[in-house]
Amino acid sequence: MSKLFKITAISLIVLIGCDRPQKQEQAQYRPNIIFIMSDDHAQRAISAYTHELISTPNIDRLAEEGVLFRNSFVTNSICAPSRATMLTGKYSHLNGLRDNRDRFDGDQLTWIKLLRKSGYHTSLIGKWHLKSEPQGFDHYNILIGQGSYYNPRMVENGDTLILEGYTTSVITELALSQLEKRGDGKPFVMLVHHKAPHRNWMPEPKYFELFKNEEIPLPSTFFDDYSTRSMAAREQDMRIEDMFLSTDLKLRAKYLEEETGTGGGPVNWRVPIDAMDKQLSRLTPEQRKLWNANYDEVGKKFMEANLTGKELLEWKYQRYMQDYLRSIASVDESVGQILDWLDENNQADSTIVVYTSDQGFYLGEHGWYDKRFMYEESLRTPLIVRIPGEVLGRREIDEMVLNLDLAPTFLDYAGVEIPDEMQGLSWRKLVNGENDNWRKSLYYHYYEYPHGWHYVKRHYGVRTEKYKLIHFYNDIDAWELFDLEIDPDEMNNLFGDVAYAAIQHELEGELKRLRDVYGDTLSLQD
Ligand code: CA
Repeated sequence: MSKLFKITAISLIVLIGCDRPQKQEQAQYRPNIIFIMSDDHAQRAISAYTHELISTPNIDRLAEEGVLFRNSFVTNSICAPSRATMLTGKYSHLNGLRDNRDRFDGDQLTWIKLLRKSGYHTSLIGKWHLKSEPQGFDHYNILIGQGSYYNPRMVENGDTLILEGYTTSVITELALSQLEKRGDGKPFVMLVHHKAPHRNWMPEPKYFELFKNEEIPLPSTFFDDYSTRSMAAREQDMRIEDMFLSTDLKLRAKYLEEETGTGGGPVNWRVPIDAMDKQLSRLTPEQRKLWNANYDEVGKKFMEANLTGKELLEWKYQRYMQDYLRSIASVDESVGQILDWLDENNQADSTIVVYTSDQGFYLGEHGWYDKRFMYEESLRTPLIVRIPGEVLGRREIDEMVLNLDLAPTFLDYAGVEIPDEMQGLSWRKLVNGENDNWRKSLYYHYYEYPHGWHYVKRHYGVRTEKYKLIHFYNDIDAWELFDLEIDPDEMNNLFGDVAYAAIQHELEGELKRLRDVYGDTLSLQD
């Protein structure tokens, strides 16, 4: 943060503390909002949370100058539903996006529409993934569907474009270009939605060698056999062991005897052995040259090593994590470019900057990749926010916040009334030290089964500060109870344990109460 920002921000606080003409200044303060969201970025892969895996100096800079939420969660841990909840401030059963098959009803009320109506300029750059055309934006430039890591096809205000380059950089350049065009004096809100680090984790060439010679540590639960949990934990298809050798681990056909991965796809569904070759055919000759110079070496070594069993599994983990973390390096750089632009253009002291993800992700915990489960790794999502004028210097918040809270919170900062239909809570007072009546429990509901990917059974549940109760349903009727204080990795299901009978009873009551409060009263068979 520049000295200029600190001086300006401190001055603002001093001014607010006085009587005249500062009241006028306070009334006029409508901060810009830059909302940066990546896709599938686990808290554990941000050094502001932990230094276990990667250094993310630019995201960390936000945390040093703002608020880091230690306990930030989602209400349904999958891409499109989480995005719909963020936009509407409503649970999936009310906003209509229960899983990735659903199409977002764009006529719904969103915080974006309300800010626009109140005088904000609104723009969206990057991944959208809600199928319907974005509504409420003065300008949008979105990836089509999941988008590609290289040379993305994008839709700009209705027109299709093909842009050359690495997608994280393309999105950043489009965002900076849109910021440059701002000049009408209106406050603005800009959503910058990265594709990375979503599967299949294709890195930017300059980061191909990052982590190349490093041994990434295995999480303690990597060899979990799921023996103490319900069938739901056992019957998923999201083990690193079953990843595609081709598209996930980037082996071209000439280095493979067969594609052994199931990859979480539909039953008996396989990718062809040359699936990676086909993906690479989209790259320019120059991009392919750089790609092959690095990944052919990986393929040759793989062939020579002829790994089996545990050695092969650990090789898959290293390959997965290298590419996942490499794709985050570009996201972190993008955050730095946006923060630099704000400094260079004297906008830092009038712009709230948010960094989050649509949900967390498994980085080998329980032997998994992907998300979906209400277990901690995918229930959590990073949330770091710089709030000029209100929070100076690092502050950490332990209270439980949700992606459901973002819509009401942004309305609060923009001085726009929060509609009753929004179900989240503004955390503006919370970050300023008032935690009266803050939630003590959260409600979760996941629906994408038996259709879709990875076979994680439908479930809903409640989490408090100390405990978690989950009910898996549909083609199963199984309960799990965890004591998060003594078992943070959720390895020991205590449901039915007499020592926890009173706690279980209390959690069952709380779960029922939350379902009523949020209006999730439909039959669980729907
Ligand atoms: Ca996602």
